[in-house]
Amino acid sequence: MESLLLDRGLVKAAARGLCDVEVIHTCSVTNTAAAKSRQAIRRALRRRFDSGLPRADLPGPVPGRGAFLPTIIVTGCYGSTNSDEAAQLAGGPHHVIQHYDHDGSAMTDRFARRLDEWLAGERTHQRLRSGPPTSCHETILPLPLVEPHRKAGAHVRAELKIQDGCDAHCTFCIIPKVRRTLRSKTIRDAVDEARRLVDLGHREIVLTGIFIGAYGHETGLRRKQAEPGSGPLADLLDAVARVRGLVRLRISSMEPGDVSEPLLDAMVANQPVVVPHLHLPLQSGSDAILKRMNRQYRVGDYLEMIDQATAALTTPDKLPPAITTDIICGFPGETDQDFEKTLEVVRRVGYLHMHVFPFSPKRGTAAARWTDRFVPSAVVKARVRCLIDLENDPDAGLSIRYRRRLLGRTIRVILEQPGRDDPAIMTGRCDHYALIHLRTQRSRGTLMHARIAKVTPTRTIGETIPAGIGLPVLR
Ligand code: SF4
Repeated sequence: MESLLLDRGLVKAAARGLCDVEVIHTCSVTNTAAAKSRQAIRRALRRRFDSGLPRADLPGPVPGRGAFLPTIIVTGCYGSTNSDEAAQLAGGPHHVIQHYDHDGSAMTDRFARRLDEWLAGERTHQRLRSGPPTSCHETILPLPLVEPHRKAGAHVRAELKIQDGCDAHCTFCIIPKVRRTLRSKTIRDAVDEARRLVDLGHREIVLTGIFIGAYGHETGLRRKQAEPGSGPLADLLDAVARVRGLVRLRISSMEPGDVSEPLLDAMVANQPVVVPHLHLPLQSGSDAILKRMNRQYRVGDYLEMIDQATAALTTPDKLPPAITTDIICGFPGETDQDFEKTLEVVRRVGYLHMHVFPFSPKRGTAAARWTDRFVPSAVVKARVRCLIDLENDPDAGLSIRYRRRLLGRTIRVILEQPGRDDPAIMTGRCDHYALIHLRTQRSRGTLMHARIAKVTPTRTIGETIPAGIGLPVLR
C-alpha cells in the first residue's frame, strides 16, 4: 500500500498526524487485533480532527493534483467482517474511505483504482462526507499478483503470499468466516513476483498463505481434496527457488499432510536456497483436544511428519532442521493430562522456538460458545509460563539445546539490523533460523559466513570468517 501511494506522487510524512492521508489496515483474526483496529481508527480520527494543527504544518498537496481533504483510508478484514461497527466508528462528517475487498485484502488492483479515483477527486468529496462505506465485493479465484513497486524500508526479507482463504473450520478460528474462498497464485505469477522482489534488493523470501497446504486446491478440507498432499506446492517451491539472485527461501507454516515427499524432495534439491527450517503448528499434543479443535491431524500424524522432515533435512554433519511451532494453552476442556501430553510432544520434538498463545475466545467461533469448559485464567497463565520456561531455561531449555548444536559450525547469515545495545554488532538469521549476533562492519542485507563461537541463554554469537575454499556455498 505504501508503494502504491508513493507511486502516485505522495510523500511519506514525518510523523503521524502531520499528513494528508492515513491508511489503517485492520485485522479481526484475534480479539486483540480487532480491538487494536478500533483503537487505531479512533486515534486517527482524533488526530485528524481534534489536533487543531494549522494547515501550514501539513505537507503540501500532491504536485499537479491540487489540495485534497485530509483523509483516512480504512482497509482490511476487521472492516469487512464488522462493517456496521466500523462504519459507525468512522461515521460522522469525516473524510474516510472504507475499502474492503471480499477477503479484507487491500493489495489489489481495485485498491489502486480506488486510490486513483480518490486522487483525481472524482465523486469523492461528497461520498466521503456522508455516503455509506464503499465496498469491493467480488470473487477472484486466482490470487492476484502483487506489484512490489519499490522497497518499503530496507527489509532484507520479503513475504510472497501464494495462497489465501481457508474453509477448514478449526473451532477456534474466525478465518473461514472472513476469508472462506480459497485462492492460489499461479506459479508463473509467484515467480514473477519473486523476481521483482529480488530486483528490489530482498535477499530472502518467505512463502506465506492462510493455509499453504491448500495451495492449488479449491478446499482446505483434505477429505474433499482430489489428491491430498499432491498439490503443486513442490513445483512452486522449485520454481521460486531457481529465481536468479534469490539467496534464501522459507515456507511459513504447514500441517501434517502438507509436508509431502515431493515437497521434501524439492526442499533438499534446492538447498542451500531453501533452508532447513519448518514452522509446523502443533496447537495441542492431546488427540482429544485436537479433535475438539477440529484439526485435521492427530498427534501420531504430527510426529510422523516430524520424523520424515528430520530424516530428509538433517545435514550430512548431523544438524537437524530447525522446527518452530504454535501452541494454544487452555483450549476449552483442556485438562492437566491433556497439557501433560502437549509437554511430552514438545520435549520429543525439541523446538527451536514456540509461539505460545493463551486461548482467547473469538466471537463467532464454536469454541467461544463452550463457556462451561473454559479453563480458569490462572491455570492458562501457568501453562503458558510452563511452556515458555521449557523453551528458555538457561541450561536445559529447548532453545539453548538446539542452538548449542550450532557451536563451532560455519553457517550462512544474512545481516538484518544493528543490535539494540551495540551498533557495532549486527544481527541476522542463519539458515536454521537462529538469530545470530555478529561483530562486523558489513551492512544490512550482506550474506556472509560466520563460525558460531558462543551460545548463551539469550544469544547465539558468531565470528566472521572470510569466504574461502571448503566453505558452504554463498549465492
Ligand atoms: S487451518 Fe484452521 S487455524 Fe488455519 S486458517 Fe484454517 S481454520 Fe484457521
